[in-house]
Amino acid sequence: MTTAIAPPQVADKKMLIDGKWIDSQSGKTFESINPATGDTICQIAEGDRADIDLAVQAARRALESKAWTRMSAADRGRLIYKLADAIEANAKELAALETLDNGKPIRDALHVDIPTVVKCYRYFAGWADKIHGKTIPVNGPFMAYTRHEPVGVVGQIIPWNYPALMQAWKWGPALACGCTVVLKPAEQTSLTALRIAELAMDVGFPEGSINVVPGFGPTAGAALAAHPDVNKVAFTGSTKVGREIMKTASASNLKRITLELGGKSPNIIFADCDVEKAAKFAYHALFFNMGQSCCAGSRLLVEDKAHEQVLDVITKMAKKQRLGDPFDETTTQGPQVSKEQFDRVLGYIDKGKSEGAKCATGGNKLDRAGFFVEPTIFDDVNDDMTIAREEIFGPVLCTMKFDDVDEALRRGNCSEYGLAAGVWTRDINKANRMAAGLKAGTVWINCYNVFDAAVPFGGFKLSGMGRELGEYALQNYTEVKSVVTALAR
Ligand code: NAP
Ligand code: MG
Repeated sequence: MTTAIAPPQVADKKMLIDGKWIDSQSGKTFESINPATGDTICQIAEGDRADIDLAVQAARRALESKAWTRMSAADRGRLIYKLADAIEANAKELAALETLDNGKPIRDALHVDIPTVVKCYRYFAGWADKIHGKTIPVNGPFMAYTRHEPVGVVGQIIPWNYPALMQAWKWGPALACGCTVVLKPAEQTSLTALRIAELAMDVGFPEGSINVVPGFGPTAGAALAAHPDVNKVAFTGSTKVGREIMKTASASNLKRITLELGGKSPNIIFADCDVEKAAKFAYHALFFNMGQSCCAGSRLLVEDKAHEQVLDVITKMAKKQRLGDPFDETTTQGPQVSKEQFDRVLGYIDKGKSEGAKCATGGNKLDRAGFFVEPTIFDDVNDDMTIAREEIFGPVLCTMKFDDVDEALRRGNCSEYGLAAGVWTRDINKANRMAAGLKAGTVWINCYNVFDAAVPFGGFKLSGMGRELGEYALQNYTEVKSVVTALAR
């Protein structure tokens, strides 16, 4: 694999409101930090309530403008296709920005993140002119039909783990449904959001149809969630902030909300599967993206008979990883996204040790600049330990043993979260029983982390509400209107 992509030089960034690149109303900026070095990449305009207000007004004007209302659904679809093409044409630049800002290895940014972003936009572009209601037979001389209308101005608040992809998950369905958007990227990772917004303007999205206001959650994010003229908020991040969003939405205009809030997903290996393969997948199920995935298979439950073999495979894999400069093509693990996350993850590792889990490998930070944590595997973890209950969002895997299907199901479900689960077995009955019994929005059987823009994704329990991706995502961005007409006798 020869990518040979160098870290880009990045100029200071403004925000995009109403098709114009502007400074914040306060004049304030904040730093974007390179997590591989701790150095400042650039300054970014820091949005707050006043900027959110301008952006929402612009999105409202755009929503009601002729440029938007007279654009056919097919033409809106074509615009989204053009955005996908523009992202594809600039894939190397975008991958480099993502790696610089987030720390993920360049090979992942280039071969996983950006191509997945392109597929997501193309999938939703195809929906744009296929979103419609029904005609409904009714009693009496009446005709009834439904219209699926855009929900309106949409506020979108996204995290830093897959910055460009989370933007695509939000923008794809919103724009396909004819909504206009105000996006607040995570403060750690605004760069690809701003560059993709620039590409969107280049391909012809009307002024104000997309707006990007970088800034912090408690200020810009909270203002967006509270804004009385925002019809819907889509949020991905922590359960703690998800609760805040829900409260704010209810206290303002009862705006519609969807929440994708992470998890503590069980990945369950029965001894009758291809254990070697399952173990390799189990490694990546947690350690991909430095463990910073909402659906990470962070609780690895292994049938007693297979436990030794699984532990052996994953421990050897952990020891073989190449940690370091994410722009080096041979690097497999980069830094955690920020000092805050780095400290949080190290705190969990200490907690695991002090609560008596056995550290099979790793457990330390790297002695170098940047926020690097060794891939860490705990064994003999029990369900009550903090590391088994709380989302760590870092390269820390908890392994546990079980004896039979009943125990696997009970312990698989013993979490407040319910985002995803993995099941490994050659027994179709066992697989189906687990798939039906696991309280999770996605169950992967003999695979893990298999995503497709057409397959819905979201959580049970504290993992959130609503589904993103697939046809189900469209429901979040439309209101159903019933129209009943009296027919002349
Ligand atoms: P977070 O605080 O929930 O951040 C997610 C997004 O929400 C960011 O854009 C954040 O802004 C914004 N935000 C924060 N407070 C807000 C508020 N009061 N109102 C509106 N928006 C607000 O998550 P985090 O602090 O980055 O990470 C903490 C933990 O959350 C992680 O360790 C992990 O467990 C979980 N998490 C889950 C996911 C997921 O995919 N489900 C993603 C990221 C994190 P800022 O720019 O200020 O951060
Ligand atoms: Mg935060």
